[in-house]
Amino acid sequence: MASVYNWQLGRPMSYPYAQAAPKEQFAFVININRCIGCQTCTMACKSTWTFSKGQEHMWWTNVETKPYGGYPQHWDVKILDLLGQANPAGMEWQGQLADDRRKPYGELKGKNIFESPEIVARGKQPNLVLGYLPTEEDWTAPNIHEDTPVGGLNKPMDFGGGESMSGDQKHKTWFYYLARLCNHCSYPACLAACPRNAIYKRPEDGIVLIDQQECRGYRKCVEACPYKKSLYRGTTRTSEKCIACYPRIEGKDPESDGVPMETRCMSACIGQVRMQGLVKVDESNVWVEDRYNPLYYLVHVAKVALPLYPQFGTEPNGYYIPPRWVPTTYLEQMFGPGVKAAVDRYRAPDRELLAVLQLFRRSNRVIFRYELKQGSKVWETTVNGKKFEMFNDTVIAFDKKNREIFRTQVEEPVHVRPDKHANSI
Ligand code: SF4
Ligand code: SF4
Repeated sequence: MASVYNWQLGRPMSYPYAQAAPKEQFAFVININRCIGCQTCTMACKSTWTFSKGQEHMWWTNVETKPYGGYPQHWDVKILDLLGQANPAGMEWQGQLADDRRKPYGELKGKNIFESPEIVARGKQPNLVLGYLPTEEDWTAPNIHEDTPVGGLNKPMDFGGGESMSGDQKHKTWFYYLARLCNHCSYPACLAACPRNAIYKRPEDGIVLIDQQECRGYRKCVEACPYKKSLYRGTTRTSEKCIACYPRIEGKDPESDGVPMETRCMSACIGQVRMQGLVKVDESNVWVEDRYNPLYYLVHVAKVALPLYPQFGTEPNGYYIPPRWVPTTYLEQMFGPGVKAAVDRYRAPDRELLAVLQLFRRSNRVIFRYELKQGSKVWETTVNGKKFEMFNDTVIAFDKKNREIFRTQVEEPVHVRPDKHANSI
């Protein structure tokens, strides 16, 4: 095994292939606080890529209700259980949160999925990755437990607070929507496990693809991907996965005007919770400073967006703004030690964060840079005992060719329709 650097773990780790990095990396941020679980993203993907025979069970992107929902069922509980077996003494984050792109969350002690494959080795054939193959039943109900809160359905809501809960976290009854897709990981487990070398990571944008000519359907990728985002298709006897809508990312869509355009699931988002882009990384996959790229800002400056299950070790490129009403202990096992600081910052955003949050879903073009123009103060209140001020700043988005895509303001304009308008009866 080679040694590669994983900045989300804050340390080097073992991986079957030598360190390599793309020129730019496909990445996205999803703001869980605003997701309404409408599944428009799910259907946008389904109707574009997985509507054919043999793909009935394929949901490259899905939205599951946590804590009970999951597609395939219990995918995260099962892999966390295997990691628990690999780490009988537990996994522990050590050190501090820091302004350090190589080690922002401290260092994770404990074996990840590439460092503990012996747990699932069968017979003489060694496994390269810790994982499991879901059963057919696990794939049958993508919406299982949708809208089911903690405590289960048909139970009275519990508005009481536990001792560790405060502010927005005061209710004992909660759930939230977790929108998921392939993370186009920097160290993909699917790629690591493929015995045919059929899976590759594109050097130009880090998108992870399965070569359908090379794949023989051994399902090692299905077994290895901890997020269970590689799926087997019985009609072709090959595995398939999210392709990051690569013609759009390449700017080849007729509507893209030659510049990168966001994926279908991002573009269709009704709740305006998804933003996708391309970030610059160095030779060890650490993000290169790019202060006014909105994804860089959200992950490394404001630090409100956190990776999904960083402890798996694949260095996923999907980031989430954690929900502010959910107990911190639950969120920390899912997003790592940065949760409390992220939620506190999101609850009382400073003027730059509030402006950057307005960039979500105003356009389908990938935003490469933003600029701020200061406006006047429009509101003042107190949040958690501290003064909170809101300014009507303008935020301007630019595309890959540095052309302005749009500009928008923190305070949304109000349009009053006249009482007689085109569709009045
Ligand atoms: S999320 Fe799974 S399928 Fe996607 S790149 Fe990572 S390991 Fe591969
Ligand atoms: S379209 Fe947006 S708001 Fe609707 S479920 Fe998907 S991520 Fe959530």
